[in-house]
Amino acid sequence: MVCMKDHLPDLSTRLVHHDYSPPPGFMAPQPGVYKASTVIFPNVAVMRSREWKDKSGYTYGLHGTPTTFILEERLCTLEGGLQCLLVPSGLAAIANVALALLKPGDEVLIPDNAYGPNKDLAHAELARLGIKPVLYDPLNPADLEARLTPATRLVWLEAPGSVTMEFPDLCEQVRICRARGVTTALDNTWGAGLAFAPFDLLGDGTLGVDVSAHALTKYPSGGGDVLMGSVMTRDPALHMKIKLTHMRLGLGVAGNDAEAVLRALSSIGLRYRAHDEAARRLAQWLQQQPAIAQVLHPALESSPGHAHWKALCGAAQGGQGAAAGLFSVMIDARYTQQQVDAFCDGLRLFKLGYSWGGPMSLVVPYDLATMRSRPAPHLAPGTLVRFSVGLEAVEDLRCDLEQAMARAFPPLDPSAAG
Ligand SMILES: *Cc1c(COP(=O)(O)O)cnc(C)c1O
Repeated sequence: MVCMKDHLPDLSTRLVHHDYSPPPGFMAPQPGVYKASTVIFPNVAVMRSREWKDKSGYTYGLHGTPTTFILEERLCTLEGGLQCLLVPSGLAAIANVALALLKPGDEVLIPDNAYGPNKDLAHAELARLGIKPVLYDPLNPADLEARLTPATRLVWLEAPGSVTMEFPDLCEQVRICRARGVTTALDNTWGAGLAFAPFDLLGDGTLGVDVSAHALTKYPSGGGDVLMGSVMTRDPALHMKIKLTHMRLGLGVAGNDAEAVLRALSSIGLRYRAHDEAARRLAQWLQQQPAIAQVLHPALESSPGHAHWKALCGAAQGGQGAAAGLFSVMIDARYTQQQVDAFCDGLRLFKLGYSWGGPMSLVVPYDLATMRSRPAPHLAPGTLVRFSVGLEAVEDLRCDLEQAMARAFPPLDPSAAG
């Protein structure tokens, strides 16, 4: 072909190199969605000079787009952080923190009631790298303190613990780590930035965690349809350390997923309160039911660590406290595993499924024996069932629990109390 000066490029070329740009000044309630692996530079000089390590410009999709930067900034507003990194899941947030801050010979402390995959990551991947995981008692700050050694580089915190819902003395745990100069990382998925301020636990700017990791999969996404995580800090050096590992591991999120979380984030306060109110009503009602030996919900006075929940979260939501939509029950030990399974199968609105924070109520039976390194005497004997309360009408959920219990749990002989 002859390449004439004014030759009109082929249609396929013109569709790729189209020169129309829409007029500036478009405004709408939601920000636009930018999707990119490749980012285009205007010339070589700009390409060479642009810095990927800060947010002064764009270099590559993995290092951020306008859509991911907006989500990071809004999450900082939610949790009170100054720097935020987005990762493909909550578990990836935990892994990013651990791999950035730990090296062979180091020890990492994890609460015995931590999110299970955090412990699995430590016992498999980290141990293989020569990093020693040490489990501590989340209800006894002295036990945490006793397990700190000169090799301890990172302490994971979780409030409340996953599945068993014990609320630790988070402030005392952070004070102990601070005094020893050990970095603290909180799994803040349950609190979500709404129940308490992770970087300002006392409300006076004097005490906070170093890192807040958050499974955005839960309340920020709110739909049960997006996997994402975040790692938040208030220290530029700590952030950069985690960010370098983030980059080297190739972690990033897609624009469409970031957009889904942005869209849901504006209603997180309303949703969190609705999940919370419904969960508390159901937890209180379950406490009265004869088949239930114990209800594990931090806002209930009888639940382990309730006083610590009240001290940290009691002022949230206009003084009624904040407690998410999650709780567990111990089913009376006189009922068999088969009967507990039949109860879970018999629920119609509560669906069997992992994760939480979405509109649909969920239920999971857990085998506590496989989840703990040591006995937990504060838990009543029995079989554990965890509920995630969605956004259905609470009376419908209560009726669902009632019908499934009536069918699965025949009355117990009161003379053989257990
Ligand atoms: C769900 C969850 C995670 C992990 O989130 P994914 O996005 O599912 O990987 C981490 N921590 C807690 C406490 C969780 O509940």
